[in-house]
Amino acid sequence: MVENVIIIGSGPAGLSAAIYTAREDFKPLMITGSIAGGQLLLTTAVENYPGFPEGVQGPELIDNMTKQAQKFGTRMINDDVVDVDFSTRPFKVKTAEKVYEAHTVIIATGANARMLGIPSEMEHMGKGVSTCATCDGAFFRGKDNVVVIGGGDTAMEDSNFLTRFVKQVTIIHRKDSFRASKIMQQHVFSNPKIKVIWNSTVEEILGKDVTGVEGVRIKDVNTSKESTVPCQGVFIAIGYVPSTAFLKGKLQLDEQGYIITKEDVLTDIPGVFVAGDNSDRFYRQAGTAAASGIKAALRVREFMQNMQQP
Ligand code: NDP
Repeated sequence: MVENVIIIGSGPAGLSAAIYTAREDFKPLMITGSIAGGQLLLTTAVENYPGFPEGVQGPELIDNMTKQAQKFGTRMINDDVVDVDFSTRPFKVKTAEKVYEAHTVIIATGANARMLGIPSEMEHMGKGVSTCATCDGAFFRGKDNVVVIGGGDTAMEDSNFLTRFVKQVTIIHRKDSFRASKIMQQHVFSNPKIKVIWNSTVEEILGKDVTGVEGVRIKDVNTSKESTVPCQGVFIAIGYVPSTAFLKGKLQLDEQGYIITKEDVLTDIPGVFVAGDNSDRFYRQAGTAAASGIKAALRVREFMQNMQQP
């Protein structure tokens, strides 16, 4: 069976594409990834998604979009895509289990947390080190101090959230200012439980397997002086890496792995479309991801109409 459209990914981009293509009666097949839902599952309140004056929880937003996509006939497969073949039509999309064929493909794979690249972060991952404050914050209830690394909106949001559980949050940032939006910075600066250490990088996460994380060794980027910050947890919030490894050699990627699009959601290959954070270094919002999913869906409609014409 050749599908009309396969959508790879199940964040706001993929789900919006699914809602639109399903309403067009294309019966889209979505391959959700082994963990469906994308980055919004890792966030708490989303206050800037249009249509929710009181804000909405990220997981609730995804749940609603999923229901909406399924209501119109989207079928979902809970698996990871490991390879694709766009060299001939129908296109092939491969999971570990099966090869699917489709006339069109929308790639909406999003992005994943970036890591520091120091060995100790992996040693302590899940044992005091986390990339998801929403998921793991409550484990640190009553602790004296947890460290958040980064200076973007995620670091600000995570820090504020973590103050619900711990006595102190220490943000460690490599520069002398945050890139986060002003309002998020204000929330941080006005929170008495949050302390900021500027101009410093984390060189090592200290601790033992049994006792867990005990601190971080940091280096002042100006003086190279090293010191230790005692803490019981470390939250890494330094941005994202696009989830495009399986597309290497199949589509044009830039040096950081972002998909290079030809024009908006179009790629070099007619019938293969891209939506969301995997091709977006700048906007990276749920709203813009959803919008690009919609654009990709409308391009699928155009492509299918042209295909059906003699
Ligand atoms: P960003 O890319 O915006 O910020 C990453 C931060 O991590 C930067 O401060 C960067 O430092 C720092 N960093 C990157 N690499 C390293 C490293 N190797 N070592 C130390 N520090 C490092 O990522 P975010 O996750 O914060 O945000 C991603 C997008 O999601 C943004 O567009 C943001 O606005 C959005 N977002 C929106 C939210 C909301 O509206 N509720 C919540 C969370 C995110 P430097 O500044 O020096 O480059």
